[in-house]
Amino acid sequence: MIFLLLITLAFLLLRIQDELNDHPVAQTVTASCPSCEKEIELDWMVCPHCLQRLRENCLVCQQRKLISHRFCPSCGSGAAEVVT
Ligand SMILES: [Zn+2]
Ligand SMILES: [Zn+2]
Repeated sequence: MIFLLLITLAFLLLRIQDELNDHPVAQTVTASCPSCEKEIELDWMVCPHCLQRLRENCLVCQQRKLISHRFCPSCGSGAAEVVT
């Protein structure tokens, strides 16, 4: 009987481990701030460390782009305005 209990326990432990492995820690896409070089997330508008703007609007297609990108990744234009 104890043997059966041990098998059940081992099975339960395996199940728990499986469930833990099913949920890997969510990865955030990070980059470094062009001004202070601290870690920032790519969807942030402003660096929380030094208040450097990280994104601007493309003047041609109005898509937001990273300030560190010289050319718009959507249309290839080099013209951009600072988001206010
Ligand atoms: Zn910064
Ligand atoms: Zn564009």
